[in-house]
Amino acid sequence: MSVSDHPGSRSSSTPLIYIGRFAPSPTGPLHFGSLLAALASYFDARHHNGRWLVRMEDLDPPREIEGAADDILRTLEAYGLHWDGSVRYQSERHDHYQALIKQLSEQQLAYRCQCSRQQIAERGPVYDGFCRDRQNCIDRPHAIRVKTDDQPIRFNDRIQGTQQQQLQQHCGDFVIRRKDKLFAYQLAVVCDDAEQQITHIVRGSDLLDSTPRQLYLQQLLGYPQPCYAHIPVMVNEQGQKLSKQTYATALDKGQPHIATFKAMQVLGLQPPASLAQESSTQLLQWGIEHWNIQALPKQLTVPPIEL
Ligand SMILES: [Zn+2]
Repeated sequence: MSVSDHPGSRSSSTPLIYIGRFAPSPTGPLHFGSLLAALASYFDARHHNGRWLVRMEDLDPPREIEGAADDILRTLEAYGLHWDGSVRYQSERHDHYQALIKQLSEQQLAYRCQCSRQQIAERGPVYDGFCRDRQNCIDRPHAIRVKTDDQPIRFNDRIQGTQQQQLQQHCGDFVIRRKDKLFAYQLAVVCDDAEQQITHIVRGSDLLDSTPRQLYLQQLLGYPQPCYAHIPVMVNEQGQKLSKQTYATALDKGQPHIATFKAMQVLGLQPPASLAQESSTQLLQWGIEHWNIQALPKQLTVPPIEL
């Protein structure tokens, strides 16, 4: 499926199915960097008369902060970013992920790996498939890896253009369930995108590199491939992505229109100065009408701005 990016090309005669999503991890409050991703996916969905879902990617309890998931949802509401349907929590979906592990293992597409972190590091930057043909005992701690091949995976990103990666060289057989039994992001995201019938994914460029792994899993599992668009992520002066770890400050729930206005400018929109005085609802409406994904900078990162 392709979506034309010209604002004038929306046509009521050809109904377009568009289901997008915003999928934060509850590792801290929403900050300006996450607002960019939320707004970009929201504008793109609403501009195409699509649905916009919110999914909480709470797969990794040790990294999560209590109350962060609720705080993220309250922030989205305060910013007028109202989602369709109910919020999906990945922590409630372990049975589904486990079923995929079972399926891939039975199809001989996945296997148990008992290598330690040190053994893997010693054998090179990319996992060499050491456990591929070993009958590792199920009773000993093990990760589950999926078998990769040497076929190049290509896709066209709506912002970043043509991408290509060969998984065997790039990452080797990758982990889909960790040794600590936590499910890997790559598996969960593919499972939920398929089950929620996501057609369009708009997210930060920090996930561009892992997209071929997701396309590969989609192929193995017979899932359709969504359209991808990776927006530039905001980095600090040290070149680090804004995140909890780099002390990005939480968005102010009381002043939504200030951050929204600035975020829209970063996303290539040019809202008139008069809109800065309007409610965030009017600001969002303007953004939906004027959204043009091709106006985004075609680069992986953007510098921080004064908030
Ligand atoms: Zn191994």
